[in-house]
Amino acid sequence: MASARLGCVDGRAVFITTSLTGYIDIEKVSGGKLSSDPMACFENWVEVCKVATNLSQADESSALALDANKLECPVPRPRQIFAIGINYKAHAAEMNNPLPTQPLVFTKFQSSLNSPNGAVTLVGEKCDFEAELVAIIAKGGRNISASEAWGHVAGLCVGQDVSDRALQYANTPPQFSLGKSRAGFTPIGPWITDAASLTTRGNLEMTCRVSGEIMQHTQTDDMIFEIPEIISYLSSICELFPGDVIYTGTPSGVGAGRTPQRFLRAGDVIETTIQDLGTLINKCI
Ligand code: ZN
Repeated sequence: MASARLGCVDGRAVFITTSLTGYIDIEKVSGGKLSSDPMACFENWVEVCKVATNLSQADESSALALDANKLECPVPRPRQIFAIGINYKAHAAEMNNPLPTQPLVFTKFQSSLNSPNGAVTLVGEKCDFEAELVAIIAKGGRNISASEAWGHVAGLCVGQDVSDRALQYANTPPQFSLGKSRAGFTPIGPWITDAASLTTRGNLEMTCRVSGEIMQHTQTDDMIFEIPEIISYLSSICELFPGDVIYTGTPSGVGAGRTPQRFLRAGDVIETTIQDLGTLINKCI
């Protein structure tokens, strides 16, 4: 297997095969050396990648067929979920925000996590979509320098930062965390791809379609603060732990920034794709 892709099926950590059509139970294939708990795998990421790289042809051919609808959240119990607001220049302009001089940070609470293809239950008339590149921490720590930051990243995946704009902007100044933490508003996945294996990890193509229409399309190198800077900044304040999740911000094209505005409606399908990382498909109900 060329690179480790960690997913979650039936509550157990699995490798996704190179063909992306099968999965292999991590605890079983490692002879019990690795845990079936995805969160434990992030604490032991170097070993996880070693086992993935050394899988035999026989291991690969023992894979079970992957049903995308059975994939669960690959990071089920992160201690912290950080998210960065206004981290793409064109998005700052559409939301009438000045460019931040340091990362603008909020949290999405753990109880809002969703599976990669989970339904999103809309609340009110102003729920919005935000495609985001998401980083998962392997080795934690404090005061991690930007130059060492990639060494602390397990992998990257796709995220949706579904946002209830009415709740987010209910007061002045606005508050972000609760408006982005309704049940199911944090789909992540479809699996975590080992960051070290991604030669293009600093510049990935990201697209968000709503019911087939392209709403957001960017290269992730348009970020104001890139992943190493974000990790350095966060770890200068908060200790980071294995399995922590970092949403890195959304590009322009969100519903609230369009003329006319385009919020999510029941029946919409949000399709979020990042090059080399996969696609989330979330139906709105
Ligand atoms: Zn966001």
